[in-house]
Order: sequence, then C-alpha cells, then structure tokens
Amino acid sequence: MQDVQKKATVYENVCRQFNKAADVMDLDHQVRKILSKTTNEIIVNFPVKMDDGRIEIFTGYRVQHNSVLGPFKGGLRYHPAVDIDEVRALATWMTWKSGIVDIPFGGAKGGIQFDPGKYSASELERITRRFTFALGCNIGPEYDIPAPDVNTNAQIMAWMVDTYLSTQPPHSRQANSHVVTGKPVEAGGSLGRDKATGQGVVFTIEEWARDKGFNLDGAIYTVQGFGNVGSWTSRLLKMHNSKLIAVEDASGAIANEKGIDADELTNYVAKTGGVKGYPAAKGIDHKTLLSTRADIFIPAALENQITAKTAPLLQVKVVAEGANGPTDPDGDDILNKKGIDILPDILCNAGGVIVSYFEWLQNKRSEFWDLEEVDSKLHKKIVKAYLHVRDTAKEFNVDWRTAAYIVALRRLEKVYRERGIFP
Ligand code: NAD
Repeated sequence: MQDVQKKATVYENVCRQFNKAADVMDLDHQVRKILSKTTNEIIVNFPVKMDDGRIEIFTGYRVQHNSVLGPFKGGLRYHPAVDIDEVRALATWMTWKSGIVDIPFGGAKGGIQFDPGKYSASELERITRRFTFALGCNIGPEYDIPAPDVNTNAQIMAWMVDTYLSTQPPHSRQANSHVVTGKPVEAGGSLGRDKATGQGVVFTIEEWARDKGFNLDGAIYTVQGFGNVGSWTSRLLKMHNSKLIAVEDASGAIANEKGIDADELTNYVAKTGGVKGYPAAKGIDHKTLLSTRADIFIPAALENQITAKTAPLLQVKVVAEGANGPTDPDGDDILNKKGIDILPDILCNAGGVIVSYFEWLQNKRSEFWDLEEVDSKLHKKIVKAYLHVRDTAKEFNVDWRTAAYIVALRRLEKVYRERGIFP
C-alpha cells in the first residue's frame, strides 16, 4: 500500500493506518502484500422500473477484501457518496474488525450510489431486490453475508433475503436465511441486533471509564449522526445518567446544555426524518457542535469528519468512534497530541458484526437466543477485545488505533503462516 501526500481518499487513509501498524509490528512482508489488496471487486449496473414507468440504471458495489478468517461479511450502504474507493475502505476495515473481536468472518462491504430519500418505498424495494439479483452467487450464507449500514435497515435485509431465497433451487430455500444478517426478528433476525452497534459502543465507553477512573454518572456527551448507531448509543448512555447536550445529523445540529432526551429525540426523528427543529433544543451550526465542550464525543455518521481542519476544535476527553473512519490520520495525530483518547472504530463499533455473527449462528443451528444471552455474549467479546487492544498499545507503546490493527494483523498473519499459500 502506498502512502500519499495529496488530499487522501478514504481508502488511502486505510492504507496509511495499515502501513503504520505493519511497520511497527514488522508484519511478514508476504502477508503484507496479500492484505494490501482486495480479493474481489464487483460492480453491477442494473435497471429498475420506477413508479411512473420510467427505467433508471443504478450502480451497485460489493468489495470482498479477505476471507482467510471465514466468509466475507459486511454491510450495504445506500448513499450518493458510495463509490469503489469508499467501499474498498469499508470492506478492508471489516477484515480488521472481525480479526480484533475474534469471529470467523472475513471483510466485505457494498452499496448503491444513490439517495434513497428521493425514492418511494416500492421503488426502494425494487432497487433492493434487483441489486440482490444482480449480485447473484457473489453473496451466499457460507460465502458473503451482507448486513445493514447507512440508510439500510431490517426491512431492506428482509427484501434481500426473500429475493435471494426466491431465486435459489427449491431444495435449498429453507436453510439459507443466514445469507443476510440484521433481518427483522420475525424473519430470522436476532434479538439485540438492532441496538448491537450502539450497545458495543457503550460497553467500550464503560471499559474506558473504568480504566480511567471516570464516572459516567452525569458525564456530558455530544453525538454526530442520529441514525441506528447514534440514537442507540445515546439511548443506552441515558441509562448511566449521562447527559446528551448536542447532536448533529444530515438535517442540521441542535443543542441544549440542560440535556436532550435521547428517547424523545428518537421519536421526533422517526416522525420528521431529522433532528432539525426539535422543539426542546436550539439550532446550532456544525462548527459549534464540534467545538462543544463535553466529556465524550461520539461520531456516528460518515467518514473523514475529524481532520486536520476540525480536530483542533474538539474539547473532549474521549472520541468513541461509532462510525467507520470518522477520523483521518491527520485528525488522529492532532487528537493524540491534544491528549484526547480515541476508541477506534474497528474496536468500538464492532458490536454490530458480533451480533450479526450471533444471528448467523442462531440461523444455522435453528436456535433463538434471548436478549440476555445475546447481550452477555456481546459484552464478553467486546471487553476481551478492548483489553487485548489496551495491552497491545502498552506492549508496542503505540496509539490505540495502531494497537487495534496489530491485534487483527497478528491473528491474520498467524493463519497465513499455518495455512501457507496455495499451490
Ligand atoms: P443510519 O443511516 O442509520 O444513520 C446515519 C446518520 O448519519 C443519520 O442520522 C444521518 O442523518 C447522519 N448523517 C449523514 N450525513 C451526515 C452529515 N453530513 N453530517 C452529519 N450527520 C450525517 O446509519 P448507521 O447504521 O447508524 O451508520 C452510521 C455509521 O456507523 C456509519 O459509519 C456506519 O458504517 C457505522 N456502522 C454501522 C453499523 C450498523 O450496525 N448499522 C455497524 C458498524 C458501524
């Protein structure tokens, strides 16, 4: 992977992170070569009939980075900024994430480049079904397993699984619902998957607080992104009596220093589509959101939000990365110099893929676990990974992101050493 000087793309940021960790740990140079490349990159252009009878052509992506630890696994994003570079980066992060939390999955990611907000529900259904059909046997329950990400949800996963199974031969339709995770519970989903990423973020923050002797009771936090990850993290932190004082999403940003009730805001967003105009808070701008003094900042939206330009604004003790790639390498350097702790994405937001793994296992075994079982297994996995990253940071005297990479790369390196390269 090449280091770059110009304004970096998301994938180039991944390369810089990877190269830094690989240098520090002296990663086997053959393994480094393999992990520097994605395995498969699939681009599909497919037609979909709109409600008014017109045909539109959509471009969809699926990038499969690596499968040495198990089947490819990763979400699907519907967003205008989806392109091959972004999907490549997100797929690569998935490989590291599964490695850190020690689940038998590889890394993949996909998406469609469009704004789903501009389409009706029936158009979204046809777009999803036609994309699933276009991917064909490039996905599969033991091969590559999609899940929700930005602007996709349990309903989209239900349409995907239905389309996949409907296009299989009859004898293999019953036992393959684990082709997709993040399904509605009634359609084979797992209890606790909806909140899993936010729950993992909160478990990680709890461990950080324990380490630092920091009391979460009364702690103040700000959030960027109030979708699945941002809203669940906020609602679960409320149980610690922590106070949400500023939130931003695609519609705008709001603040109330006395506190914003995360459950009420979730209901408001469900009705209006965004946080803007929430009556129990005042409107603020993006810069004010980032500059708000707080204990915890939770980016839970998109990549490259904390950069050389914005990192100097932050006045918090810790950044808990709910989003993938919210901090670029220049942003990392500034936060590290300022003494702001970073709970890196590939550890902090791994709750989603962990419970996706639990869903996959339940489907395969025809089991249905109760919520307590899911939560306690998730807690065990996240805490183990957190301690592993913390100890690795001490061992190599490096920042936590680099330590998280080293945990994953060590695991992958070991498997390659044992298995060797065919032929
Ligand atoms: P989502 O679609 O449910 O929510 C996305 C949120 O980001 C929305 O509130 C949206 O308004 C906001 N947003 C979009 N553009 C923005 C902008 N320019 N400024 C501020 N806010 C903006 O998506 P999600 O599933 O919550 O995913 C959020 C992040 O978490 C992504 O980086 C995703 O990859 C990551 N993630 C999600 C999961 C999961 O299980 N859903 C798991 C791991 C990581």
